[in-house]
Amino acid sequence: MARSEAYEVVVVGGGIGGCFAAAAAAAEGADVVQLERKPAEEGGFIACGDAIKSPTDPKKYPGPIDMNAIVSDEAVLADGNINQIEWWDEELGVRKVLPYDKHSNVIDRYEFGQRLLEQTGDLGVTQHYDTVVNEIVQNGTVQGVRAIRKGEPVRYDADVVIDAAGAQSIIQDLVDFDSLDAPVDVTFEKPHYTHFGSAYREIVETKEPVEYANSIVGKPLEEMGYIWYFPRTERIINIGLGFQMNKPPIALADRLKQDIQSRPEYEGAIVHERFNKKNKLGAALALRRPLDSMVAPGYLTAGCAAGTTHAITGKGIRGAALSGYSAGRAAAEAVADGDVSEESLWQHNHYLYVEHGEGTKLAARDAYNVAAGSIEIPILRAIAAVLPEEEIREVVGTETSIDDFSSKLAIVTGALKNAISHYRAGSFSHLGVSVGELYAALSGFKTTREYVNRYEDHYWEYPESREEYFEWLSERNRLDEEFYDALELDAQHRKY
Ligand SMILES: Cc1cc2nc3c(=O)[nH]c(=O)nc-3n(C[C@H](O)[C@H](O)[C@H](O)COP(=O)(O)OP(=O)(O)OC[C@H]3O[C@@H](n4cnc5c(N)ncnc54)[C@H](O)[C@@H]3O)c2cc1C
Repeated sequence: MARSEAYEVVVVGGGIGGCFAAAAAAAEGADVVQLERKPAEEGGFIACGDAIKSPTDPKKYPGPIDMNAIVSDEAVLADGNINQIEWWDEELGVRKVLPYDKHSNVIDRYEFGQRLLEQTGDLGVTQHYDTVVNEIVQNGTVQGVRAIRKGEPVRYDADVVIDAAGAQSIIQDLVDFDSLDAPVDVTFEKPHYTHFGSAYREIVETKEPVEYANSIVGKPLEEMGYIWYFPRTERIINIGLGFQMNKPPIALADRLKQDIQSRPEYEGAIVHERFNKKNKLGAALALRRPLDSMVAPGYLTAGCAAGTTHAITGKGIRGAALSGYSAGRAAAEAVADGDVSEESLWQHNHYLYVEHGEGTKLAARDAYNVAAGSIEIPILRAIAAVLPEEEIREVVGTETSIDDFSSKLAIVTGALKNAISHYRAGSFSHLGVSVGELYAALSGFKTTREYVNRYEDHYWEYPESREEYFEWLSERNRLDEEFYDALELDAQHRKY
């Protein structure tokens, strides 16, 4: 018979979402266990571009985890001098430079992950490594999990389970949502595989310093996705690429090799000894809006499992942190109140979409992902080439707001001016993009932008309680249909 242990909160996952969730729940006084399938010394190893913006801003990284202490550790902060994003489409002669107001950083993801786990443990969380969750215990509410710990079966009973098991979380498949207590029958929304991205990275050391040590650089791929160069120092560069899985697969490692072989600064570059073993990594990530609801009776989800990654850039560290914090806090409060119903856990949804608001901004920007997924890559590259920098920043960020009339006019004028100069220079000729196609695509972009604003307005109205949720959801679904119709999307390109 399996050994059994009892806690108030079980957190599945030792990544960013799991640490922020477990730490927040423990700081609120809950008795928490965190389960991670990897051994302790491998916690934090994950494929990542390692770019993180304003890590010490408490609004971006709320809760008891002390991010100041983490990033002031030299082993964690690889490069704290990133002050711009660059988009290069070298074939088209395009180099867009988007300044970052606040400093961004490239971190050592492994050291960062280890410090997060250490702090989480110091906050009183019990941590079980080498523990693979493979079953759910439920009876009206989710009441725990079963796992294999170091080869032995263990049952973990709990009032609440937090699923922070990442993009490929199996927890959502294991929970039978339809048989949980709920006043109205609703099937828990599960991400579809076409919403996922696949990515791969390596960390290499160049012979000479690169010129772009203060920039995180993106370049187009032949499928929807991008190649990146994120410098950790002037000579140690996190390079990688990712694409969305609704497109034909790309042999990621080969494609990356082909790219760096074409660049003089990577001639003779080596995969540094220190980064050799565990940093040539691939992983999946969810490129979609956050789940419509991230709670069910006795269950909350956070991080990549909840879809809190930016659907265009794939950046998800911040979303995982703040959704983890929110899930942990909501779980502990529900446990303290002795009520783990969906209604009681609802504050997790409301925090993300309204009180904090990052969820709303992420959800709205998924419209860009939908639109981009329906456009041929040469046209997409032409659009990126002609859009003014401020507009690209709006698409890849979640903070800027350039919605007044004169700014919109400046965008249109800027895009037209850029289009004229590209056509005059003949830079679009080998892409085979005609003026008519670019014009139509820009008009689709303008439509998308309007819907991004409309989605944002709607998500700001995300209901405070579950009772009003179904009306809100049906209006959101109506907005989806209206948007898809406005873009004249065929069934294949409608994202549900
Ligand atoms: C190649 C790549 C590059 C990226 N670059 C960036 C970037 O530059 N900046 C950025 O902000 N974001 C980036 N992201 C996204 C970011 O890494 C993720 O959004 C973030 O790691 C999500 O954190 P998480 O805690 O939700 O999930 P994860 O970090 O995936 O953590 C989930 C944890 O759960 C554990 N687990 C899973 N299943 C089980 C189970 N059954 N039992 C026990 N444990 C389990 C896993 O081992 C893992 O440790 C990138 C992603 C990829 C793939």
